[in-house]
Amino acid sequence: RMAEAAAAWSGPGRTADGQQVAVLANVADGASARTATKYPVEGVGLFRTELAFLDRADAPSIDEQIALYREVIDAFPGQKVVIRTLDAGSDKPLKFVTQLNEANPALGVRGNRIATEHPEIRASQLDAIAAAAEASGAAPWVMAPMIASAEEAAEFAGEVRRRGLFAGVMIEVPAAAILAPAILAEVDFVSIGTNDLTQYTMAADRMSAELAALTDPWQPAALTLIATVARAGQTLDKPVGVCGEAAADPLLACVLVGLGVTSLSTAPAAAAAVGARLSQVTVQQCRAAADAALATSSPAAARAAVSKVLAD
Ligand code: PEP
Ligand code: MG
Repeated sequence: RMAEAAAAWSGPGRTADGQQVAVLANVADGASARTATKYPVEGVGLFRTELAFLDRADAPSIDEQIALYREVIDAFPGQKVVIRTLDAGSDKPLKFVTQLNEANPALGVRGNRIATEHPEIRASQLDAIAAAAEASGAAPWVMAPMIASAEEAAEFAGEVRRRGLFAGVMIEVPAAAILAPAILAEVDFVSIGTNDLTQYTMAADRMSAELAALTDPWQPAALTLIATVARAGQTLDKPVGVCGEAAADPLLACVLVGLGVTSLSTAPAAAAAVGARLSQVTVQQCRAAADAALATSSPAAARAAVSKVLAD
């Protein structure tokens, strides 16, 4: 029955009682963005720009970047597009910027941290995004990965806003989740990266199959941090999205909405199942599911408690 509901669901994302929750796509380049338009998504919640440059020896030119960003923006005219600045390093090394001799790359100079030593790389990317936005007549949102402090968030937001764009940061470091009110005060929106947030909360490598039980997206410790971020978003009336794998699990998506998350971004193929499940539950049921999950102390117990609350 769930498969039928998913096949029939065409968006937009909303709960049974009509609360809007945008269901968005994670994309990597123009081709994947155009493919995403064939699924019931309302825009792009995460454009992982670094993926287009993984095999490059040298930094891409401004013109090359403008063309790439325009392809993604133009795939979703008039719709939301969230562009993430380079998340270089760790599992996504870029030859032209990543230091190869780090002892702990996941804890090293990755994501927005590259801008300290290579300010010109981030500046050229922001210039290219602003030029692409202007050429397309669009207003993409821009966010930075691997932000750990309010100072980093404020510095990034300043660079983005002086180019006339909406500025946000990813919340994927536990410190950023804990201090979400201070970080949200500096930016226009945040997006929670549950893959890294769970990795760093559990101190367990997201790439390790052996540690997969620890990096389960249902870990109550990570859900507790997500709750902190969502509450801060509600207090400050700013959007809080989720763009990690947690958003692709229909049952967990209901929990995220119950915690106060305002949009969900997933691999496009997962969008219909998530949207269909959300359309069957009320916000109140989502809140009850979130409370049930937060009251547990293991992923298995959280799944069981939420399945019970949302059983129809
Ligand atoms: C995340 O960390 O959850 C995320 C969305 O970013 P990435 O998977 O690209 O690190
Ligand atoms: Mg991440």
